[in-house]
Amino acid sequence: MAASKDRVFSGARPTGRQHLGNYLGAIQNYVALQDQFQCIYCIVDLHALTTVETTVDLRTNVQEMALDWLAAGIRPEETIVFVQSNVPEVTELHTILSMVTSLGKLTDLPTFKEKARLQPHNINYGLVGYPVLMTADIVLYKAKWVPVGIDQAPHIEFAREVVRSFNHRYDTQTLLEPQMKSTEVPKVLGTDGVQKMSKSLDNHIELAATPGETVKRVMTMVTDPQRKLRSDPGNPDVCNVFSMHMVFSSTDEVSMIDLECRRAGIGCVDCKKLFAKNINAHLKPFRSRRNELQKDQDRVWDILRDGAKRASQIASQTMQEVRAAVGLP
Ligand code: SF4
Repeated sequence: MAASKDRVFSGARPTGRQHLGNYLGAIQNYVALQDQFQCIYCIVDLHALTTVETTVDLRTNVQEMALDWLAAGIRPEETIVFVQSNVPEVTELHTILSMVTSLGKLTDLPTFKEKARLQPHNINYGLVGYPVLMTADIVLYKAKWVPVGIDQAPHIEFAREVVRSFNHRYDTQTLLEPQMKSTEVPKVLGTDGVQKMSKSLDNHIELAATPGETVKRVMTMVTDPQRKLRSDPGNPDVCNVFSMHMVFSSTDEVSMIDLECRRAGIGCVDCKKLFAKNINAHLKPFRSRRNELQKDQDRVWDILRDGAKRASQIASQTMQEVRAAVGLP
């Protein structure tokens, strides 16, 4: 890992097996960033505790997610991949940062209001402090960049404000204001063609699914809603299958579908079959790497432990500086 490279941090909640939306929206970018930056990727299990009803699947979800990241091309020899709770300094920094964060600001955040709306029976303290823990995640590792889509910009601005508040309160430059590494995150719709692809909505296509399972899932995809009969011309511009073809199919195939769909020269079943074939071909190397990794699950946990060890070295250095700046004995 070259010391001169800028540091990137990103965290994701342990949601288990990843889907196409996760792949196109984050994982692909995680892999690409490794060529240019010193990357730290964290599975944020503590964040998950704010919303999950039960933790029985937490360990499995962490493992499945790590498997997907590694199979997709995250290189643990150079990139630090670890589980958030394995570096407990983050909770200490969270506490210290919470003292320079206004409660009113936290409860005014749209993300808090939305979460409170979704789980009115469980508006816990962690839910309110979530953005402070997120800030601690980033600044603990002195990350310069955080790769996020434009809709996440307010989170990074919030983190920057907390850092400024800390540095001002303790008259220090200890913490680094993170910057947003804006990435073009495509909005990947689920099989319903309406909502964002999500496991909880059961409208997702898993990366690790078998080819047969993928075909079945693709066949349920909603197409142009106006096209009722095979003989009706379709409109690819409003069809989610077509937008997926644009990502996974060749230019010739995309042009052919664009033309044939509009004159009813191709039916939706054949169009979906072609998409399923292409996505299965695209994911074949990923799936074969994943199957190999899965045979040796201890190795996945070794990688995560090693990542936590390397992350701890950075974290303990930062915390020494933070404690000194605050004046903690
Ligand atoms: Fe969509 Fe393809 Fe059907 Fe056209 S033929 S409506 S692009 S699934």
